Amino acid sequence: MMRSALLAAARSPQARSFVERTPLTKPVVSRYVAGDTLEEAVRVTGDLLADGRKVTLDHLGEDTTELAQATATVHAYERLLAELGRTGLASGAEVSVKLSAVGQSLPRDGEKLALDNARRICEAASAVGTTVTLDMEDHTTTDSTLGILADLRVDFPWVGAVLQAYLHRTEQDCRDLSGAGSRVRLCKGAYKEPESVAYQGKDEVDLSYVRCLKVLMNGQGYPMVASHDPRLVRIAAQVVAAAGRTADSYEHQMLYGVRPDAQREIAANGTTMRVYVPYGDQWYGYFMRRLAERPANVTFFLRSLLTTN
Ligand SMILES: Cc1cc2nc3c(=O)[nH]c(=O)nc-3n(C[C@H](O)[C@H](O)[C@H](O)COP(=O)(O)OP(=O)(O)OC[C@H]3O[C@@H](n4cnc5c(N)ncnc54)[C@H](O)[C@@H]3O)c2cc1C
Repeated sequence: MMRSALLAAARSPQARSFVERTPLTKPVVSRYVAGDTLEEAVRVTGDLLADGRKVTLDHLGEDTTELAQATATVHAYERLLAELGRTGLASGAEVSVKLSAVGQSLPRDGEKLALDNARRICEAASAVGTTVTLDMEDHTTTDSTLGILADLRVDFPWVGAVLQAYLHRTEQDCRDLSGAGSRVRLCKGAYKEPESVAYQGKDEVDLSYVRCLKVLMNGQGYPMVASHDPRLVRIAAQVVAAAGRTADSYEHQMLYGVRPDAQREIAANGTTMRVYVPYGDQWYGYFMRRLAERPANVTFFLRSLLTTN
């Protein structure tokens, strides 16, 4: 119930205006978001790399409704990538991009615009020697996103995909994307999806995650295990061992601000741990999905509002 309500609120302009205008939201948001500016994002990246973790940076923004917004997002990524190159951080830090932020949902030519814009971001990443991963959004965008991925991979074979274990289709998508060099981030999925396309129960989603993980680990690609779930992290180690994979042939990923001790522990054990670091002032949708993932976050958020008022 709580998850559904929060995910519905993530798409509601009224809820957005309420949450954004509450000044006390900011301290809670800062647990999950590196900061509003490029400088803050680069500083956090430097700290994480110095601590033995790697990074994927997300310039926050989604559901872009105007061409100018999409262009501004591309410029933000170009500036970020240039800065990562200038500061010598690009070897440990890549970027994650939401295609809806670069125009995918604009009427008429949205898909072509998103492809062209994503291509510009890939060129900027290539210039500083790093990579790009395309985030996955709600299921109405999956085919379009995988189509754009295939086009980008013709010129930039290192572009990463994200697959969501809660979708019924994902085991097959894992098979299709398990070829040599294919970088695939496997996550549970963060959106509110109907029963017709997605498993609804936690156990069903977890079982699907393990089936998908087995497909990816037994394939030729580079799986990226994006989960904070301690049980799935343990199972991943077993699947890796059974598939005979070496520590440099896959990685773990977690979100900035979530289970930092587990992040350090995995990195200390010799497996790459990449932290997903969002930054920018368009934090609302991202923040609401993080609240939805853990009811305790909501209690913490509400308590901090009540006690300081
Ligand atoms: C690197 C990365 C990239 C992602 N990219 C995408 C994407 O492109 N598309 C997409 O749909 N989803 C994405 N996700 C989100 C993902 O789909 C899940 O919603 C999210 O990771 C929670 O699932 P979980 O596997 O961590 O398991 P859960 O069962 O949700 O969580 C397991 C445990 O982790 C901790 N935890 C999890 N979430 C939180 C939180 N928000 N705050 C505090 N503690 C928490 C809690 O201790 C919880 O008990 C991404 C996740 C990661 C880690």
